[in-house]
Amino acid sequence: MKIAEIEAKSIIVASKLPDTDYVANPYTGCQFGCLYCYATFMGRFVDEPRSNWGNYVYVKKNAVELAKKQLASWPESKNHASILLSSVTDPYHGVEQKYRLTRGILDALVEYNYQGLISVLTKSPLVLRDIDLLQQLNSEVGLTITTTDDKLSRFLEVTAPLASRRLDTLKQLVEKGIPTYAFVGPLLPHFRYQPQLLDDLFHGIADTGTKDIYVEHINLPSYVKERMWKELRHESEQIQEIYGGSKTQKHRDILTGLVNNLVAKYGLQIRLGGTIYHEDLKKKNEQKGDATSLDQIKSLIERAIAGNEVIRITYQDFQGNITIRDISPFEWTDFDEKKVRAFCHLRQEERSFSVLNIQKAEYIGSTKGHEQNS
Ligand code: SF4
Repeated sequence: MKIAEIEAKSIIVASKLPDTDYVANPYTGCQFGCLYCYATFMGRFVDEPRSNWGNYVYVKKNAVELAKKQLASWPESKNHASILLSSVTDPYHGVEQKYRLTRGILDALVEYNYQGLISVLTKSPLVLRDIDLLQQLNSEVGLTITTTDDKLSRFLEVTAPLASRRLDTLKQLVEKGIPTYAFVGPLLPHFRYQPQLLDDLFHGIADTGTKDIYVEHINLPSYVKERMWKELRHESEQIQEIYGGSKTQKHRDILTGLVNNLVAKYGLQIRLGGTIYHEDLKKKNEQKGDATSLDQIKSLIERAIAGNEVIRITYQDFQGNITIRDISPFEWTDFDEKKVRAFCHLRQEERSFSVLNIQKAEYIGSTKGHEQNS
């Protein structure tokens, strides 16, 4: 395992993900080396080929210092934005034990009395070490769990802590009063043919006391497929066919149906309105006028005020309902995130909400003759 120390230029950066405003990745590379990992593209920033994913970690040794600097200069309005640790690395993989960068960033957020939602997503029980800090923040912790089968977990998630340890970690977090969620992604293709195994997974998650869940269909762009297929070629023809056939809409529809039944059976709350598919989210983001991050919404609102135009915001409320509201520029003197939240009747104390739940913001025309429909 190659471990190198580097200096980063920034650490908390705007996110394009549907469920967070900012992301912080204290490392480039990830020791866990999951076969399905989409973050292998990060190698291009440190001159590492995709095929080497899992064999290197570049440690952003100034990550904590940068976080402090950024937080010190952020305006009050940003103090409520949500931040995810992490999106293209695991914040608690092996080297975190030594470098403690994730801990350092959490510590900085505590120091700055940060109010926004801090979401930590990991596969590692090492997150339990930082419960003292998480308890002082508006935080939640997600554990990625794709199977209850430890053997399969070892195969797909190479050196990540076993699935059973992750379920146990979720349970311990619940017991300590930390809000939790499970991230079931990728939704493994064989569940379509062995639904009992998917039932076991949802049952296992529900048993930890965790209620919230994200579910994501497998996404197989060519670079992920290449890495995965290299390993799968040693598996049975049947397995290869199952994975090969997982890109169809029919496959996703069947799995989505199974997931919906299990969510109801175990009383879970599925986030983002249902099982998501990366390609669909990508298309949505690419639509002209759409906005998913606070910065994008801010710029839309500023332009709408200047041009006297109405913005239609589509968002998912904390009960999971999709709602549309039209906002005229009369209601804004300037951009204020709290106003967005208040307008949508979404409260800061609702942990399941953050502005990221806004799915679309678009111009719908001039205010002339416009009746607000909410
Ligand atoms: S833990 Fe996450 S970031 Fe790390 S290799 Fe696995 S999928 Fe990629």
